[in-house]
Amino acid sequence: MIKINYSETKLLGIFGHPLKQTFSPMVHNKAIELLDLDYVYLPFNVGTTALPDAIKGVLALGIKGLNVTIPHKETILNHLADFSDEAAMIGSVNTVVNDMGKLIGYNTDVHGFHETLLPYSDKISGEMVTIIGAGGAARAAIYCLIRHFRPSKIVIVNRTEQRAHTLKRYFKQKMKFDHFLTYELFPPDIATVINESALIVNATPVGMYPEIDDTVIPIPASFTKNQIVFDLIYNPSKTLLLKQAQQEGAICINGLKMLVYQAAKSFQLWTNHEMPVDEITKFLAREIELKRI
Ligand code: NAP
Repeated sequence: MIKINYSETKLLGIFGHPLKQTFSPMVHNKAIELLDLDYVYLPFNVGTTALPDAIKGVLALGIKGLNVTIPHKETILNHLADFSDEAAMIGSVNTVVNDMGKLIGYNTDVHGFHETLLPYSDKISGEMVTIIGAGGAARAAIYCLIRHFRPSKIVIVNRTEQRAHTLKRYFKQKMKFDHFLTYELFPPDIATVINESALIVNATPVGMYPEIDDTVIPIPASFTKNQIVFDLIYNPSKTLLLKQAQQEGAICINGLKMLVYQAAKSFQLWTNHEMPVDEITKFLAREIELKRI
């Protein structure tokens, strides 16, 4: 049980819309309970136009920390006093710390992505990688790959090709990385790049519960042994994309570890405590299998 000391309990939360799919309250409240801390984490359904008022509420109520998700990850930057170099570079914030009335933004998705792929860095460095998607998660992934893994080429594949172009231009300018290719998400055209990439990342929601029969690369996709297929989705634990890739011998990774490690980094920024990541990972995996939220 979370301990509530009615005068001292510190408030954390998430701003987003819709919030139906979020696991963050479950993750953070479980960590608070395991560590017996005097915090509580609540979901706040904040629509696009409500963000400025909601931010005033954070300051007025002294909310200690926030996660920020769709549709606010980029617009929140306009409401912050400062942000980390990473968040500024990526142009997207998923964590806000209220430092005595000064709101500071961070991007902890980078940490989650980095921790997940770290064991495979030798397989990624100097190789071609493909990111499917051009939203906030793709931005964090591309930043992290350039900064920490040094691939030879990054292919951005997106349903709306214009957004892939925008990302390419953005990172070319911000990070001086010139080796991009962009494609529209059209299976015959992308078959070759998928086939030649050492790492393929699904940074779209395609295949996420309840649409578990969907896959962003329709069958037949051709994966090869030793390729890494990283689907940022964690519910279900094995998407149709990962099932396909596994059948062909690829190394398959889902989004659970990224979810836990990005949460752990946010938790540490707010509370100065280390999240018990192993316990939280087991807890979440069980909840996902049992509940199908
Ligand atoms: P986002 O900013 O809304 O971007 C969504 C991306 O998916 C866009 O590129 C969009 O393409 C594409 N997309 C959406 N629906 C599609 C469809 N039906 N077919 C093809 N492409 C489609 O979302 P995000 O924040 O980047 O999140 C993307 C995924 O990553 C989500 O599943 C999210 O749960 C997951 N994620 C996981 C973690 C983790 O910790 N494991 C962290 C962050 C995100 P258009 O540009 O054409 O609209």
